[in-house]
Amino acid sequence: MKYSKLMNTTKTSQRKPLPYAGQRRNHAGGFGWSVDRWNLLDRFLILGSENGTFYVGAQELTADHAKNVIEVIKEDGERVVERIVDASQSGLAPKNDPAIFALALAASLGDDKTRSAALKALPLVCRTGTHLFAFAKVCNGLRGWGRGMRKAVANWYLAQPTDRLEYGLVKYQAREGWSHRDLLRLSHPQTNDAEQNALFKWVVDGEVTGDLQMIRAMLALREIKDVSQAADLIKKNRLPREAIPTEMLTESAIWEALLADMPLTAVIRNLGNMTKIGLLKHGWLSGNSDSVQKIIELLRDSGRLERARIHPIGVLAALNTYALGHGVRGNGSWKPVQAILDVLDEAFYASFKNAPAIGKRLVLGLDVSGSMVGTQVAGVAGLDCRKAAGAMALIHEATEGEVTHLAFDTSVYPLKISRKERLDKVVNLLARTGGGGTDCAAPIRYAIDKKIRADAFILYTDSETWYGSQHPTEAITEYRSKMGIDAKLIVVAMASTRNTIADPRDAGTLNIVGFDSSVPQVIADFLS
Ligand code: CA
Repeated sequence: MKYSKLMNTTKTSQRKPLPYAGQRRNHAGGFGWSVDRWNLLDRFLILGSENGTFYVGAQELTADHAKNVIEVIKEDGERVVERIVDASQSGLAPKNDPAIFALALAASLGDDKTRSAALKALPLVCRTGTHLFAFAKVCNGLRGWGRGMRKAVANWYLAQPTDRLEYGLVKYQAREGWSHRDLLRLSHPQTNDAEQNALFKWVVDGEVTGDLQMIRAMLALREIKDVSQAADLIKKNRLPREAIPTEMLTESAIWEALLADMPLTAVIRNLGNMTKIGLLKHGWLSGNSDSVQKIIELLRDSGRLERARIHPIGVLAALNTYALGHGVRGNGSWKPVQAILDVLDEAFYASFKNAPAIGKRLVLGLDVSGSMVGTQVAGVAGLDCRKAAGAMALIHEATEGEVTHLAFDTSVYPLKISRKERLDKVVNLLARTGGGGTDCAAPIRYAIDKKIRADAFILYTDSETWYGSQHPTEAITEYRSKMGIDAKLIVVAMASTRNTIADPRDAGTLNIVGFDSSVPQVIADFLS
């Protein structure tokens, strides 16, 4: 029959859409499907859009997401607020900024119920002054300062215990063109609590009355020239780094004092700094310094990592930067301490909740095409999608018995990955692999050719596939019939676009957004 040649239904060039399948053109000129609006909302909340992707600029991508957020707000605004709170509170996302932006849109553009739900959620999503300033900035342009908004911001201040409030006022004084002074003058919180009133008075008038121990210490520090005296004052009053005069920040005694009460996120962010100034060091005879030991203890405390909402990607980014030996913004260099590298490696694995081994045969398809290098993960500097995919390969390797790792662009590169190797080494190996065009069907075709028995294919990709003579969904269909295994296809989105290669009509496929600590569990649940 000539027709089967004229319209082949098992092999369609990726430059053409599958017949009658509802595909649309992706950014690379190939064809795939769009995820639905709610999945797109999740992609935004978790992956963000601040750096764009290899194909789409940050502005264009953000505009597309904002449009989608507004559409879902119109569909069901309260559900959007719930989703935002969940993403922000549970530590699903490496960064909180997309959640704040979406909350501001809900508080400004939703119906009455949505707006009040969004304002009620304010302290749950905006947990620091910096978060609140970012929220105020977006709202200011969209809705102005009505009664509901003023009341919500006033409550944000009033609901905090005074010691936490004082710490927050010292730590986050002004950002994004907004300060606590601006917000207090607009929101006018009313209280009979003398301590709270003294704090507000200091912020608004600069006048110190009452106890205000931390603020008095911060002001006193500006007059002190002696380093050990300054260090004592910092320790005694648990001052944060933001309260320290800049010229003091080159002293290792000052950092040692800061480290005593440093929040975990700040510890992770300042590992390079603390090594550079000589606080974190390893001596041939003296071994690890006390501060190195302290950091090891901190990072081994997995409960603490979870409470601080340290995202695995945050740990990975820290490891990546620390191993590099210089900051991404180019301020100085350091010689990494081996024990710190090791404990970061440990912390990365620990940041994934212990998922039970799935007991299934997995083929991992790790997209290492050029676009994966050009797309950063959730706007984390220095961390591209290719490296993150490598890290996930190690997570699967660590929890599962039978994993085949296939890196691919338009070719396939089988990888031997061993759990014994340290994360940054594997990630760097992957960073040297591939770099070409994209054929997401390639790992599946490879498994057909080599007769690899797999219960599931897990593809880490931006779904911008365009090369090759067969669509991924046709390849999985062929795999199932040739191998006689009803293999599942799981697609993990690494970029916050609308694209997916997972056929929405196929119940054996799953779309996952990003790679937070729950991904192994979600995959286990789906496969069992
Ligand atoms: Ca690509």
